Amino acid sequence: MANMTKADWQAAAKALRIDGRAFINGRSVDALSGETRPTFNPGNGKQLAQVAYCGIEDAELAIASARAAFASGVWSAMAPSDRKMVMVRWAELIEQHREELALLECLDVGKPISNTLDIDVSAAVRTIRWSGEAIDKVYDEIPPTPANTLALVQRLPLGVVAAIVPWNFPLSTTAWKLAPALATGNSVVLKPASNTPLSALFIARLATEAGLPDGVLHVLPGPGGSLGKHLATHMDIDGLTFTGSTPVGQLLMQYSGQSNLKRTFLELGGKSPNIVFADANLEAAAAMAAVAVFYNGGQTCTAGTRLIVEEKIRDEFLDMVVSKARDWMPGDPLDPATAMGPMIDEGQFNTVAGYVDVGRKEGAELLFGGKRCLAETGGHYHEPTIFAGVHNQMRVAQEEIFGPVLSVLTFKDAAEAVSIANDSIYGLAGAVWSRNINTAHKVAAAVRVGTMGINNYFGGDMTVPFGGFKQSGNGRDKSMHAFNDYTELKTTWIEFE
Ligand code: NAP
Repeated sequence: MANMTKADWQAAAKALRIDGRAFINGRSVDALSGETRPTFNPGNGKQLAQVAYCGIEDAELAIASARAAFASGVWSAMAPSDRKMVMVRWAELIEQHREELALLECLDVGKPISNTLDIDVSAAVRTIRWSGEAIDKVYDEIPPTPANTLALVQRLPLGVVAAIVPWNFPLSTTAWKLAPALATGNSVVLKPASNTPLSALFIARLATEAGLPDGVLHVLPGPGGSLGKHLATHMDIDGLTFTGSTPVGQLLMQYSGQSNLKRTFLELGGKSPNIVFADANLEAAAAMAAVAVFYNGGQTCTAGTRLIVEEKIRDEFLDMVVSKARDWMPGDPLDPATAMGPMIDEGQFNTVAGYVDVGRKEGAELLFGGKRCLAETGGHYHEPTIFAGVHNQMRVAQEEIFGPVLSVLTFKDAAEAVSIANDSIYGLAGAVWSRNINTAHKVAAAVRVGTMGINNYFGGDMTVPFGGFKQSGNGRDKSMHAFNDYTELKTTWIEFE
């Protein structure tokens, strides 16, 4: 399987049977209304499958079932070591279906098959296994209270959690939410993005096979504006975990305030700075500058979309980055050699093309790309694009484009680099490249973001938390810190006679 060719993947795609039914109470079911909506392959614009179009009545069914499962203790009161066994089995089952799941994600999202196979599926397996294996190693606290007292500080599950996820990393963001929420004993109702519902439905079915009790997990495909809002305003949902855009995140905080103050954790957008000093390993920095912005077609929350380069190496360094950009011309997602696929849909393509126009009109210099390509495929492919001469007040430096568009700015000294980096409503990620440990560390410390790389971009693994400062959100996915978003702290104070 590891050596499959494009033709092999095309044949596998033809043979793939897709189940687009919702997942409620441990079973794949049609929406109660019987309604469906198509999901499309962004690589060729063709319909991939019909998917259940869930509404309020499906949500009510799922929430009631999730509440009943939680109250019964079938999962919430199960020994952590037993929950661990189910989660580890679930991770193993996902691993066993690696190729089929990678193919499904490739077709639904338009991600290159090499990425879905090696990155997305692997990340989901690792996240679920790691969270399961960690949960029976978490100890609660006994604080230092007076001698005739004993206090217990325990972390208890929230109850019923709603999870709402985006289309750009559907499988891995689903795993980042489900793994800690389920490991800590919650019941979960997940709403995938309308564009990309298939991988979440697939792994939910495997969760039942692994032994997750019925009622603990539900997956409802359906529209954000009504179904998503219904979950977010529901009085019987205790927690809401979200990955998506900042404007929708702002709505969700309001919905929480207007309803039951459900715990609301948000992972939102970004406009991340990638700072390159003249003394850096420029070859490595140029290669990663391209990866940082063109990986997943720039449809990545942490994309390094603002390249901030020391002025004295600007021309030399930009030549290197442009030469790396040539390796990112889009191709067929089913070809294992493809580095970058299409935009998710025509709407996102138009957003990207619109920002390319904005950049030109703002006076930025188009150094590379800027056009549609592979139009004959029916897919929504955009060239990797580089703007130089960008000032930080331009819209292409401030707004999240969510496409393969790099804005290049320059700085004279470290203070100016930090000031440009921090002049953003976002604070998700960033990187600094320098061989001087003092410069690198001081700049990394001063940039206000949740994750900062030194001489790398996209660094990190399951052991470290992931999330944003400022308008990039308030939650943390991954690591033991993720458990905090899905638990309440409870104090029991005992006085002895
Ligand atoms: P989005 O438009 O905010 O949608 C995200 C999810 O929210 C989808 O499931 C969507 O449903 C749903 N939704 C939309 N309106 C809603 C409402 N009023 N109430 C409840 N739910 C609603 O984001 P996207 O375009 O899918 O994803 C791209 C964004 O996600 C970017 O801003 C990116 O930076 C961010 N992101 C952040 C992270 C991170 O960890 N920080 C990771 C990945 C992506 P429909 O699909 O039905 O509209």
